[in-house]
Amino acid sequence: MVKKVALITGAGQGIGKGIALQLSADGFLVALAGRHLDKVNEVATEINNKGGQAIGIQCDVHKKEDVEKAIQSAVLEFGQLDVYINNAGIAIVDPVEDISEKDASSLLEINVLGSLYGIQAVAKQFKKQRTPGKIINASSIAGYEGFPMLSVYSATKFAIRGLTQAAAKELAKDKITVNSYCPGIVLTPMWDEIDDKMTKLDGREKGSALNDAINSIALGRGEQPEDVANLVSFLSSEKANYITGQSIIVDGGIQFS
Ligand code: NAD
Repeated sequence: MVKKVALITGAGQGIGKGIALQLSADGFLVALAGRHLDKVNEVATEINNKGGQAIGIQCDVHKKEDVEKAIQSAVLEFGQLDVYINNAGIAIVDPVEDISEKDASSLLEINVLGSLYGIQAVAKQFKKQRTPGKIINASSIAGYEGFPMLSVYSATKFAIRGLTQAAAKELAKDKITVNSYCPGIVLTPMWDEIDDKMTKLDGREKGSALNDAINSIALGRGEQPEDVANLVSFLSSEKANYITGQSIIVDGGIQFS
């Protein structure tokens, strides 16, 4: 049987790396795209050493041509593409009154436009292949409720839910599904940066913002990349064929809808 192929953006660390390892374990051939080629290559080597098949691709998602080239490279290497994970993203902590135009633009360009470019380019590829396809985007619990000091970040994650719904409705006729995952407090370098900036802003001890956030989780522990990867594994599988337009919370019990 022909193996399915997944491309994951921001796969050099954190949640993206967790998804790459999980999808490879599920039997996917994986293309790992990221800003830093050395980091995605490191993850690709780890996967190849375990008997999987992975390649690293340099790609800055806020450049449309990089995203298109990454898709072409994956197809050139593996022959097709079946699943596209729009995982790359940044978080910037600042009070809403102070966040700079430059930082706000970076958040919108990387988190929203980067995902839009991925949806556009991969939808074109799926249609060219005349195969069904799955697009999976990174939203957040901050895509359901605005978080203080994360105003523009929250706005980008709300935007991802909108993009997900609209793209799902438009692309359904081509058997392309579009869904999102909404993690909570995941213990990745992103949260180290959030904690660092938040505690500096309010003069508290380093680690206390993260601790407070973890204390709000019903299941009583911080989230691991594997917790997110398990949901993405399901959404990437045939078992999720009848699910589209959804943004699914995986947060250990912080938000309840
Ligand atoms: P992270 O900062 O640990 O990793 C993000 C990865 O994306 C890095 O490898 C980084 O190099 C890459 N990246 C950033 N900008 C890029 C660009 N322009 N082009 C290509 N790659 C780029 O973050 P993470 O915690 O692993 O988060 C992954 C995704 O999940 C993000 O979209 C984030 O917003 C979302 N998320 C994270 C959390 C959390 O608690 N960590 C919660 C909810 C949602």
